[in-house]
Amino acid sequence: MERKTYLHPAERYVTLRDNIEVVLGAQFSLLINFKTGGLHHLNQSASEIMKLFLSGSSIEQVLQHIHTNIDDVKCLLDELHNLKLIDFTVKPGKAPDKDVVAARPELSFIWIEVTNHCNLHCIHCYAQALSGPGNQPDAEQICSWLDQAAALGCRKVQFTGGECTLRHDLIELFKYAKQTGFETIEIFTNGIGLNENLIRFLAENSIHVALSLYSFNAATHDRITGIPGSYEKTMSSLKYILAYNVQVRGSIIALKQNEKEVNATRVFLEQLGVPSGPADPIRPCGRGLDMTNWPSDYGLTFMRTTPDLIVDKQLYDTSLYWNNCWFGKAAITATGNVIPCVFAREQVAGNLNTHTLQEILNNGLLSCWQLSRDKITVCKDCEYRYLCKDCRPWAFGYTGDLIAKSPTCTYNPYTGEWSKAETAMNKK
Ligand code: SF4
Ligand code: SF4
Repeated sequence: MERKTYLHPAERYVTLRDNIEVVLGAQFSLLINFKTGGLHHLNQSASEIMKLFLSGSSIEQVLQHIHTNIDDVKCLLDELHNLKLIDFTVKPGKAPDKDVVAARPELSFIWIEVTNHCNLHCIHCYAQALSGPGNQPDAEQICSWLDQAAALGCRKVQFTGGECTLRHDLIELFKYAKQTGFETIEIFTNGIGLNENLIRFLAENSIHVALSLYSFNAATHDRITGIPGSYEKTMSSLKYILAYNVQVRGSIIALKQNEKEVNATRVFLEQLGVPSGPADPIRPCGRGLDMTNWPSDYGLTFMRTTPDLIVDKQLYDTSLYWNNCWFGKAAITATGNVIPCVFAREQVAGNLNTHTLQEILNNGLLSCWQLSRDKITVCKDCEYRYLCKDCRPWAFGYTGDLIAKSPTCTYNPYTGEWSKAETAMNKK
């Protein structure tokens, strides 16, 4: 045991060491060590003590103020000191949280829905893409959107839809995006409209592809897309994509119809040389609002039932002020609506036919970005709130309340208890 430093008459205060942060929660608090990735929980009485220290009280004042056993305080201080989380100092230390300067709000990524027309009719489509004539902004409009985004510092764009390959001027739009300074360009596609000429262009210009595939099994894939033969066409394009060494990633969405096949589909894609993360369950928006398609078994594996946290200082600092997913992002729909992400169909921050992107960013979009965890019901009292990735479309689509806690998390910060995955999403 190290010496009981808090007894030294000159060292009257408690300060957090470098790289250590404290997040106060309703029941528990969390000491985060960003150097080691370690997390240390404090119970309610230890949290109260820590709160006093962090507000500048001396050890003497805390010992006089609290009703807890003095030995408990000494034990706590010894433990935290031995864990190298705190120091004893002659002056009060820093206040918890909010002591970093908020990042300047900058646009870092945009989705552009270049059409809402699609050659498939997927049962869960978040954009409710249409198979008949859809909305298609003209090329001048899209170029103006690219100009405006680039002027705001944005260098990453994903062209999406609908199915963006239905546009005959796609190559011209790619060229324009490159000239405008976009460094990362990706298309999200079902692959059906990719011909060899277009794929060669993608390869020569380092344009990335995100390819949607619902199953290694053609029948399952076609059942979800609603178009017989769609699997064969997508796989045929994938052959060219791989042959031309286009940078490609797979996107697998899990529904009731394919939930037993999504893990094998991921392996199938990876064996072909197409990396893809775990399948993402359908988001409750657009046609995805129909919960009869919800993957009830696979969905359970997606529920947060343990502190599945990202111990990252950048995420922490962003989360202090901003929504940690939406911050810096915008999606432009085929009608010119600006929304914070492609799944947030109802959070329309403005329309580019009547306002500039800068005006929309300064008003509606900024309000979306500012939906930090401190504004979210229940999460605002959770000790994990700055290390936990948020997804507002989940909460909104499921509850109709933009500031509701996500139904995918089973933690109750008022009791400190996690529930089973089966209890999540049990409202509908
Ligand atoms: S979703 Fe909310 S309640 Fe659940 S762990 Fe994250 S911050 Fe805490
Ligand atoms: S908010 Fe949710 S749906 Fe939107 S980009 Fe982030 S994770 Fe995806």
